[in-house]
Amino acid sequence: MSTAETAGDERPRDFIRETIRDDLAAGRVTAVATRFPPEPNGYLHIGHAKSICLNFGVAGEFGGRCHLRFDDTNPTREELAYIEAIKADVRWLGFDWGRHLYFASDNFEQLYAWAEHLITAGLAYVDDLTAEEIRDYRGTLTEPGRDSPYRDRTVDENLDLFRRMRAGEFPDGARVLRARIDMAAGNINLRDPVLYRILHAAHPRTGDAWCIYPTYDFAHGQSDAIEGITHSLCTLEFEDHRPLYDWLVENLPVPARPRQYEFSRLALSHTVMSKRVLMRLVEAGRVAGWDDPRMPTLAGLRRRGVPAAAIRDFAGRLAISKTSDSVVEMAMLEHCIRELLNRTAERRMAVLRPLKVVIENYPEGAGETLEAVNNPEDAAAGTRRVPFGRELYIERDDFMEDPPKKFFRLAPGREVRLRYAYFVTCTDVIKDADGEVIELRCRYDPETRGGNAPDGRKVKATLHWVSAAHAVPAEVRLYENLFTRPDPGADGDVMDDLNPASLEVLSDCMLEPALASPATGDAVQFERLGYFCADPDATADRPVFNRTLGLRDVWAKIRAKGGSARP
Ligand code: ATP
Ligand code: MG
Repeated sequence: MSTAETAGDERPRDFIRETIRDDLAAGRVTAVATRFPPEPNGYLHIGHAKSICLNFGVAGEFGGRCHLRFDDTNPTREELAYIEAIKADVRWLGFDWGRHLYFASDNFEQLYAWAEHLITAGLAYVDDLTAEEIRDYRGTLTEPGRDSPYRDRTVDENLDLFRRMRAGEFPDGARVLRARIDMAAGNINLRDPVLYRILHAAHPRTGDAWCIYPTYDFAHGQSDAIEGITHSLCTLEFEDHRPLYDWLVENLPVPARPRQYEFSRLALSHTVMSKRVLMRLVEAGRVAGWDDPRMPTLAGLRRRGVPAAAIRDFAGRLAISKTSDSVVEMAMLEHCIRELLNRTAERRMAVLRPLKVVIENYPEGAGETLEAVNNPEDAAAGTRRVPFGRELYIERDDFMEDPPKKFFRLAPGREVRLRYAYFVTCTDVIKDADGEVIELRCRYDPETRGGNAPDGRKVKATLHWVSAAHAVPAEVRLYENLFTRPDPGADGDVMDDLNPASLEVLSDCMLEPALASPATGDAVQFERLGYFCADPDATADRPVFNRTLGLRDVWAKIRAKGGSARP
């Protein structure tokens, strides 16, 4: 496929699904079990969504189950609050782990017993080298490693030291438990990898019960085996860890034989996926929090107004490949969002930068309501009544006193259509002492009610508007990409690539009354302006809206030119 997209009606096909099909057909596997294994050290981002949609997706397609497993083996960076946020995000994305919620920490006692099993079998030893010395002894890609002087300790000595590590006799970093595999192995992960380290740190779930913690490598495959995971799907950076994954499963009396498969990570242009960088942005106050609508986190995207279904659609179009990680254009994600919101979001009128208009020949004190279509893409969405009166607001940008040739909107002497309402002609311009336009005087044609002239005359522009007497004042927040370049940090510190104009707050917006008390998260299209959603910062009498996206679809253009998701 030249693009990363698959046709919507096709069942997804990729090497992972092929493998599962083969395993089921050959009877190697009877019930598919996958897991999504987040580390509770931050919030989930759109990259995780790729993994969530894949793991839960294949489990669903093959009648299997998908577990949510917290990989909580590093207590210094983990928090209960992250666990709850991650659960909420996975649920929001539309997936349900049912009763299959697990924690690697639930297996600490079993993992400890298996560590002793390896020691007894002569396959693990306690090493007194410092972290730096271990790195030094490990060798390089071109040079073999050297044996630690502690590698040949007796089983009894190792058992004694490991038990004393657990008992808390030694300070952090004094000793580690290492697998005894092969210091000359071509794969560096097999050069006696560390299985346990001493960490006198309270764990969010096990508290002070432990002061030694298993490494990712020791915990992950064994947790897979305990849970009966059949296909352990992870990202490509773990490919080199697979021989160790297999070595551990083969050398331990585990109850099942899981297998690991690696697929490409998602990278998205104009943003970052590294939790470390996202954490930096939050801690340095460069964003308002993990759920800042500019963040690529699921919490941020949700607050921005991105529907979960659009993220699932996006994830379903991504290539699940075994080759190198690809950078996907942000425009492709935006395309999926627009495609969905265009179908589902109701239309409303909102004026972001208001300019007052007085219709001089409209009777004072009079008013009426006009019928407006809620969603031209969805007849079932029906219509609503929009109040009209003598004083209105239009968008400041929709008027020019001295318009250039290609400006077709309102100007002195010119007639335009007010959407769903009437034709109006600008007759006068009122300015303040500084010469700034503060009000327009217009006349309307009562014969054009509903927006059409009985004599068939045409106008070149249709403007949105809000009745001044009924307008709901609101704050609207406009967002742009968080970073100025497609590859933030590629050329120095990522913080230097932050877009200083990524947020613009407009505090004097005017909304039609139907937008007075939106529920948080409600997505609407402000006519001619884009897709917006209600923000939880709203108060009872003052809505706050976030712009999800403007209307212009860049991806559709890239695709029409034969572009691919990978630049
Ligand atoms: P960190 O940034 O702390 O190294 P991580 O991004 O790998 O962590 P985890 O919580 O360990 O985060 O990830 C959980 C799962 O999500 C892992 O299986 C990981 O492979 C997968 N995952 C993480 N980032 C991406 C991504 N960009 N694309 C696809 N899958 C991802
Ligand atoms: Mg990880």
